[in-house]
Amino acid sequence: MFSIDARSLGYVDVAVCGGGIAGVCAAVTAARNGSKVMLIEAGGCLGGTMTEGTIPYVIDRDNKGGIVRELYEFLEEHEMCCPRRGDKADKNGKRIPGAILDIEGAKYFFDKICREAGVRVLFHSRAAAVNHTLGHINKLLISTECGLYFLEAKIYIDATGGGNLSCLVGCEWECGEPSTGKPSPASVGMATVGFPEEYNGTDSEEEKTAYGTLLEKRGIRVSSQQASIVKLPSLKTWDVSVNFQYDVMPDDIFSLSNATYEGRRESFDVIHAHRQIPGYENLSIVYTSSHIGIREGRRIQGVYRITDEDIIEGRRFDDGICLVTASVDVHKLNDDDTLNTSRGYRTKPYHIPYRSLLPKGSDNILLAGKCISGDFYPFSSYRMMGNMAATGVAAGYAASLCVKEDMLPREVDGKRVKEYMWDYLHERN
Ligand SMILES: Cc1cc2nc3c(=O)[nH]c(=O)nc-3n(C[C@H](O)[C@H](O)[C@H](O)COP(=O)(O)OP(=O)(O)OC[C@H]3O[C@@H](n4cnc5c(N)ncnc54)[C@H](O)[C@@H]3O)c2cc1C
Repeated sequence: MFSIDARSLGYVDVAVCGGGIAGVCAAVTAARNGSKVMLIEAGGCLGGTMTEGTIPYVIDRDNKGGIVRELYEFLEEHEMCCPRRGDKADKNGKRIPGAILDIEGAKYFFDKICREAGVRVLFHSRAAAVNHTLGHINKLLISTECGLYFLEAKIYIDATGGGNLSCLVGCEWECGEPSTGKPSPASVGMATVGFPEEYNGTDSEEEKTAYGTLLEKRGIRVSSQQASIVKLPSLKTWDVSVNFQYDVMPDDIFSLSNATYEGRRESFDVIHAHRQIPGYENLSIVYTSSHIGIREGRRIQGVYRITDEDIIEGRRFDDGICLVTASVDVHKLNDDDTLNTSRGYRTKPYHIPYRSLLPKGSDNILLAGKCISGDFYPFSSYRMMGNMAATGVAAGYAASLCVKEDMLPREVDGKRVKEYMWDYLHERN
């Protein structure tokens, strides 16, 4: 037994654990709908994989307005996003909308909208343990830079990416491709400077693979076999993504720590080798991801689990909270695997149902972000940030209904959430 001396943070309506894109959207939506909200984030900034994992491009956002739209508008206004190579002009043919975003701009935008909505954000604070009765959380223990605290809330939103809160109350989860158990790879990304003025980056699969071959001739084998090299909005900086780390499981801190080391080592080796090529002598790393990008964490078992059939048939639901248009994108699952992102899956646009945000095994947790309930292949499509933002908004809105009408998430009529989401997502599209 440990003796625990924790101070009370009091009571809030909604406690959001995790400040990635889903957590920010959940917290801001709950607060904008009248709830008193606290957002607990383990790291030192908001945005999660987008900011700490250096992923500067929101996929599956075109059919969704809302907070992602606000983000891009803010960044455009401050000249902190730029088009992706090959992007076409908008409907009026006048301009190419920004797609690649500035990570520091996104961090500040997330801080700002939380502050403006009245969300109390705790940085350097990790949801560490719970006191619960049959999965119903009574108190949350938070381990912070400044000691231990506990917090009470009516509704808890698990937006930790890894399903870390739900697993504290014993919710069941899955991770990995069903036949092999192999999870999607994790990756350390980096921002660099020093590419020549005329450099174009890599866009097509052929260009990405050619980069891998180029380095192989220099004795460096790139773990992802290819490289995505994309111009960033800040002056002369480029996002370089070459790294895959396999078998990083959500319940194994050793595999996570080793992958973090290996990812940084590979980033260093690749840039060093590239620098030997005439014309690239000035290449250097500005920063690597402060948190390794984890594509797949725990997929928590929910009241509804999104299945392969749902995405192949393009199923729509009465409680569908957004329309996913992204296709299956699996990446290599081990070093010998061949690149085959779609794995033969041909998907049609499909709904994420509200029920996939309700974990089995807890009545006062809502799931938001990549830990929602779904099978491996659906996950490999809906995990894109446009959809993860929408799950956050839906969880935040449902939580605010629970507070206003004294309900539990399972008692919320999913059709009401759908109605809200459809107005919200499409009002300015
Ligand atoms: C390498 C890589 C490339 C990708 N490329 C793209 C792309 O190009 N476009 C795209 O749209 N999507 C992409 N994705 C997918 C997308 O980035 C993620 O699915 C999405 O960002 C997940 O958001 P989230 O909010 O669910 O979780 P996360 O972003 O993982 O956020 C979770 C947050 O919770 C915090 N946290 C964790 N545990 C606790 C705890 N116990 N207490 C408090 N806080 C906690 C973490 O610090 C983190 O900030 C990529 C993912 C990866 C890894």
